Formats: sequence, structure tokens, C-alpha cells
Amino acid sequence: MNLRVLTINKTYFNQEHIMAKQDFYEILDVARNASDEEIKKAYRKLAMKYHPDRNQDNPNAEEKFKEVKEAYEMLSDPQKRAAYDQYGHAGVDPNGMGGGGGGHPFGDAFGDIFGDIFGGMGGRGGQRGPQVYRGSDLRYTMEISLEDAAHGKITQIRVPTWDECDTCHGSGAEAGSTPETCPTCQGQGQVRMSQGFFSVQQTCPKCHGTGKHIPKPCKTCHGQGKVKNNKTLEVNIPAGIEDGMRIRNAGKGEPGVNGGPAGDLFVEIHIKKHNVFERDGTDLHCSVPISFSTAALGGDIEVPTLHGGAHMTIPEGTQTGQRFRLRGKGMPHVRSASTIGDLFIHVTLETPVKLSGEQKDLLRQFDESLKSNGDKHSPQSKSWFDKVKGFFD
Ligand SMILES: [Zn+2]
Ligand SMILES: [Zn+2]
Repeated sequence: MNLRVLTINKTYFNQEHIMAKQDFYEILDVARNASDEEIKKAYRKLAMKYHPDRNQDNPNAEEKFKEVKEAYEMLSDPQKRAAYDQYGHAGVDPNGMGGGGGGHPFGDAFGDIFGDIFGGMGGRGGQRGPQVYRGSDLRYTMEISLEDAAHGKITQIRVPTWDECDTCHGSGAEAGSTPETCPTCQGQGQVRMSQGFFSVQQTCPKCHGTGKHIPKPCKTCHGQGKVKNNKTLEVNIPAGIEDGMRIRNAGKGEPGVNGGPAGDLFVEIHIKKHNVFERDGTDLHCSVPISFSTAALGGDIEVPTLHGGAHMTIPEGTQTGQRFRLRGKGMPHVRSASTIGDLFIHVTLETPVKLSGEQKDLLRQFDESLKSNGDKHSPQSKSWFDKVKGFFD
């Protein structure tokens, strides 16, 4: 399997951002876990707001209204919503499958480029054949734990796939019938259209580039020659992967059209928030409470790491907020597993609570003993009082 880790660099991200359809949840301004009722309410509100009858002066309202309607149609259908949650627009957009890309974020960029290249190859020397398209890319979002990101893991995912239709064996025609040559393009898959001085070659609108016309479409696949299925794919998540990175599975996206190359499958990684560690690149940060006496006397404490507990020595006179570095206890670097970040322990001093009378007496005695030595035990308080002295006069 060909696996490669891609970081989303700026151009890449911007490009996608421009081409991507807006997220359906964003359009309706609801949370991803919104209930059916919430989705319906949000839809009603926005549909009223953008209804063309009420927005005759707003030229953008109709477009907005259509967007809202489409988002509602997708999210109010449990099946479509599930597909959308798992695969994004590629999961629900019929145009995003197979052909030149349609609504799929990558389809436009890659589909057109490859469509041109392969179409052009067939086009030279007057020997034009049906249009060849690269299949659309698919995106799959996966949420993993910080532990999995630290250690790496091999996991399996279910992805949609198109298989040859068993009923018609891929021809798209009903048993006993055969596909005919498309009458519009005479089987070439392309037609020439004149626009003023220019003559433009376009994909045949009748057969969509296949060059064939199917008079009696197969009932199983509706003439497509392929049926949608699911397949299991193994995904290798490298140690050190960061939130938002994508793992590319070359050729595991949608199959091409008319023998074109398949698209790629991108597995986008999201790392769940950890309840102990915060990550900053390859470094980890963690807050550890210590007792007042440990802070004053120093001592051994146990601290958590992603590989289990570890011991750390706290020096005498440690202050709250002080930071200690445990080298090599952070995250591995995704491109160089031998480079490992550090773990920073931020200690916080815990004030003892629910003291007994006897414990309180001991503390008062202790406090008296400190005071009898002037301010030498509290250097921070001394410098603070020096600074604000003017305010108390
Ligand atoms: Zn069929
Ligand atoms: Zn045609």
C-alpha cells in the first residue's frame, strides 16, 4: 500500500477552501450533533429569512435559499446525514462520484487536469475515443486518541467503492440488449460546438463521454454498469501524526471513468482532546498538583507520561507555577521517529483543606516561627510589598 503523510500547507488549504462546498452544518448554523428538531427549526428560520419572495432587493438571497434547502434535504434524511458525516460531500453528492468531480473538493482540480490530459491523448490524429476521467478523491475523517498519535497504529476503515454490476457485467444494458453507439457523438464521446469564431470540443451531453447509448438500462445499476459497495481498507497511522494531517492512500478513491486512473483516498486525522496532556508540536504539557510540604521540603513525586508513570524529584523551595522538563517524554516527530519532544510538568501548589483543630494549631505555631525570622522565608512577598508600599500609605 502506498502511504504518504501530507501536511496541509497554505496553498493546498486555500485551494480546497475555495473549491469546497460549504459545510451543511455551517450553512444551517447548527452543531454537528444537532437533533432533527433543531435542524428543522434552523431550516425554517433561514428559509423564511432568505425566501426569494421576501428578498426581492437582495440578489444573493435566492442562492442562499437554495443552499439552505439543499443542506436541510441532506441533514433531515438520516441515511444521507450519516453518509455526509462520514464522507463529507463525496458521500452524498452524486456528482462527486466517478466523473469529473462535480461537488467534490478535489474533483474539480484533479478531475479536470487529468480529464484534459487523457482526453487529449485520445484526441490526437482525429482518432477521438470516449472521454477518460480520473476518479474523484475521497476524504475520510478519523478521530484518534493522543496515545494512538504518540505510538502510531494500524487500523481498518470502511470506505465506499464501486464494483462491476453482476447483473449486466458492467455493460449497463439489460439482459438480451446491447449498448448502442451514441447517436449524438457517433461514439466519440465528444462533440464540437461552434461559438462565434471558436469551435469548442465538449464532452457529449447525451452519453457523458462514454460514447454509448443504452436503450434498455440494467435495472440493478440503472445503466451505470457499476454498483456501490463498501470495502475495508487498512490505514497505517504513523507515530507523531498531528491534528489535521492527511494520510494519502493512492488509487483508493473513486474509480476512473472509461479506464481513467482511480482517485486517492485521504484520511484526515483529528486528535481528541486529552484530559491530562496538552500538546504543542512535539512537546507535551501537564499540570501536577503538589502539597505545600513537598514544595517546601522537596521530594519525589510521580508524574504521568504517555508511556505510564515516571518519577521526578522536586527541589526544596519549589514555587507554584514552576515548570520542569522531562527530556524525551514528549511526542515523536512524524517525519523522524528518533526525534522526540519533551514533557513539561507545571506544578501547582495545593492549599490543604478541611484541617482539624490540632493541624490548625500546628500551622499557627509554624507561621509564628516563620515570622520571628523576619521576611527571609518569603522572598516573593517581600519584593511585592516593596513594590506596592506607596498604595498602603
Ligand atoms: Zn447492471
Ligand atoms: Zn455521446
